[in-house]
Amino acid sequence: MENRIPLIAGNWKMNKTVPESIETVKTLVKLTADVQGVDMLIAPPFTSLWAVGDVLKHTKIALGAQDMFWESHGAFTGQVSADMLRSCGCSHVIIGHSERRQFFGETNQTVNKKLKAALAAGLIPIFCIGETEIERETQKTFSVLDKQLIQGVEGLILDDHHPLVIAYEPVWAIGTGKTALPEQAQEVHAYVRSLFAKVFGNSLAKKIRILYGGSVKPDNISELMGLPDVDGALVGGASLEPESFNKIIHF
Ligand code: PEP
Repeated sequence: MENRIPLIAGNWKMNKTVPESIETVKTLVKLTADVQGVDMLIAPPFTSLWAVGDVLKHTKIALGAQDMFWESHGAFTGQVSADMLRSCGCSHVIIGHSERRQFFGETNQTVNKKLKAALAAGLIPIFCIGETEIERETQKTFSVLDKQLIQGVEGLILDDHHPLVIAYEPVWAIGTGKTALPEQAQEVHAYVRSLFAKVFGNSLAKKIRILYGGSVKPDNISELMGLPDVDGALVGGASLEPESFNKIIHF
């Protein structure tokens, strides 16, 4: 069994002003001071990145952004580049979150461009994939994941210096209180790892971390983390309160 360090990542989505972000993350830093053997990450909104990054300096919690644009600079009003994220202290960036796909026209092709640009700038992408409820009910889960994964990673060059994290987030489980059953999560995670192995080889597939996301809470995290191919969690709602996020980190 490969020794993958678990990663617990919090996605705050469009929540928290700058002062609220600072207060939350200061509490979280104190609560998690004893944590060892678990990587931690917070992805606040763009507006809070610099301030949160400042609090996280010299702590064990990494900083991530929730999205980025693939171009490096120029006339792209409202967009943020990978270098701008790096300059705020980000080491990671979430790419292809289902809310970006659902509300902002993200496609497997735009995800692919963003993944390439993130890796080229030295950011570690947290690449999100997942099926909708109707896709699961109509037995399309695996074909949807195939397409998202294969088209998303097309032409990527990955190695130990250019790593990628995958987050499997069934869309029907995000913010709904429904969590995938342990056997459903394990089945998909093992499938995604085998698909990844076909493209990038076994050795990288064994190293890659596959996070589960979708209504992860303090009371369901330990069961999920007990699954052999679940290497951590991408947490939305339950990452907003430092106390509940801390409980998840201490699974
Ligand atoms: C998410 O947004 O990535 C997520 C998993 O949200 P929640 O934990 O609230 O379902």
